[in-house]
Amino acid sequence: MSRVYNFSAGPAVLPEKVLKEAAEEMLDYKGSGQSVMEMSHRSKVYDNIIKEAEQDLRDIMNIPDNYKVLFLQGGASQFFAEVPMNMMKNKKAGYIITGQWAKKAFAEAKIYGEAVKLASSEDETFSYIPDCSDLPITDDMDYVYICENNTIYGTKFKTLPNTKGKDLVADVSSCFLSEPVDVSKYAVIYGGVQKNVGPAGCVIAIIREDLITDDVLPGTPTMLKWKTQADNDSLYNTPPCYTIYICGKVFKWLKKMGGLEKMKELNEKKAKILYDYLDSSKMFRGTVRKEDRSLMNVPFVTDSDELNDKFIKEATERGFVNLKGHRSVGGMRASIYNAMPIEGVQKLVEFMKEFEEKNHV
Ligand SMILES: *Cc1c(COP(=O)(O)O)cnc(C)c1O
Repeated sequence: MSRVYNFSAGPAVLPEKVLKEAAEEMLDYKGSGQSVMEMSHRSKVYDNIIKEAEQDLRDIMNIPDNYKVLFLQGGASQFFAEVPMNMMKNKKAGYIITGQWAKKAFAEAKIYGEAVKLASSEDETFSYIPDCSDLPITDDMDYVYICENNTIYGTKFKTLPNTKGKDLVADVSSCFLSEPVDVSKYAVIYGGVQKNVGPAGCVIAIIREDLITDDVLPGTPTMLKWKTQADNDSLYNTPPCYTIYICGKVFKWLKKMGGLEKMKELNEKKAKILYDYLDSSKMFRGTVRKEDRSLMNVPFVTDSDELNDKFIKEATERGFVNLKGHRSVGGMRASIYNAMPIEGVQKLVEFMKEFEEKNHV
């Protein structure tokens, strides 16, 4: 067996220890004689799995008691609609546009009400985070929306916007559990787990309780009403059972690793190796403003498309896979999520140096 270094933006690398444990439990989960894939979501044994997963997540993130944790389906993309459906009481909300995912959420919100663009970095291909200290937020806005880490462009909000007292909703798909967060600063934190947490198929949403009500937009489907999901502890219908089970294992792994403080330290160390090299290289360079750089997604380019293609091809042959940048931006992108070992980044940089020497400019 030989495993590659997988720099995919998502679905993405998972901790090897988690995969091995899941393999060991595949045929017989803890003496139940069944795989977790085969068991009823109403069984006692599965109930323990989902409850424990929630508790571990609460411990890791220090989630206050007045927040619900929901395990949902439909991906982050469906949640773009759930936010206005459940939160647009005045039918007006502010969006900060920092990339494709924020743009899609913004477009979705427009279906349901007035979505106002508060700030944007589209003028420079989303290569920075706009100044959000004094945004044109009005009193009648129901919430302010951000995509906290921009997976495609590689930027991250280092400070949260000044929402002038309005509820903050954040898509954290690609920075979930990468560092400590103060949950109480947000009204809603949500993300698809397939970036930094688990396999595809589940969205985790952490929602302040007072936002979970029957007062939703007319026509909101039962399944998309947060109250339905909250009242049934995410078991209104069959949840993505196996994905939640793997997420639970990742939470235990994170606890063992030392929690989010430790992850932050490791993630900073990993990202620094790559960014330091990009800053010193004559061939490769990062594409975003330094102070807005993501710890998770690192886009970079050379000055020629040919060289980019050659690099991606040779890197793949050497076992560094999924380094091609998003189809909308080109170049390269290394996603270095929690589960990417530091050796993966060290070896990638060694290979980049070697490539630079061989193809010297
Ligand atoms: C990947 C991604 C999405 C879309 O997730 P799906 O689960 O595929 O809908 C949304 N937001 C961000 C920040 C992402 O990285």
